[in-house]
Amino acid sequence: MTMQEKINRDAALVLLSGGQDSTTCLYWAKERFAEVTALTFDYGQTHRAETEAAEKIAALAGVEQHCADASFIATIGRSALTDHNIPMDETRPEGGYPNTFVPGRNMFFLGIAAVVARERGINHIVTGVSQTDFSGYPDCRDTFIKAMNVTLNEAMDYPFVIDTPLMWLDKEQTWALADRLGVLDIVRSETLTCYNGIKGDGCGHCPACRLRRAGLEAYLRHRDNNQTSIS
Ligand code: ZN
Repeated sequence: MTMQEKINRDAALVLLSGGQDSTTCLYWAKERFAEVTALTFDYGQTHRAETEAAEKIAALAGVEQHCADASFIATIGRSALTDHNIPMDETRPEGGYPNTFVPGRNMFFLGIAAVVARERGINHIVTGVSQTDFSGYPDCRDTFIKAMNVTLNEAMDYPFVIDTPLMWLDKEQTWALADRLGVLDIVRSETLTCYNGIKGDGCGHCPACRLRRAGLEAYLRHRDNNQTSIS
């Protein structure tokens, strides 16, 4: 059998953090691909609850989940997400990124995911990054993803396809997508987005909670007025 014949083009590996975005992507992938596998990273997050949420979500979705140790990321760069001695930026500082930015995170994640996918003959890699995210992290942008896709294909001579279903969606539209996929309640109650490590509706005041809640409230308001639709 040639290399090409071993590739399952109807299989996807979803990067699952346990948050709203990656969970929505998991169900998006389940709708599209015959075989879906989840990959969760331990990257030295200050909140264990994140990986626990991911485990429960994978079980609820009935998908096989792999965990990969990427804790070296926290040892080589500084971020408020991996070091609780650093107070978290509430807003984006002028001319920079909030200190919740973990340098290199998505590059390492996608690199590791590609190796895992290739080992299993999977060619789609799904990630919930979004360019419309408030913080504007450079490794959430479409140009980075496209460049990384080319890099991975060149690095391993393998036809990876990185799918980013949320790239151009804002939080309201991401809630709309979850609702269309029939998982709004699961996403709302089982995911962990809060920077203070509280599942579901979260602490309510950190930047991630505020963004999430504003999107949900806007979505529910528009849905009830029958104005929001998403394909
Ligand atoms: Zn919060």
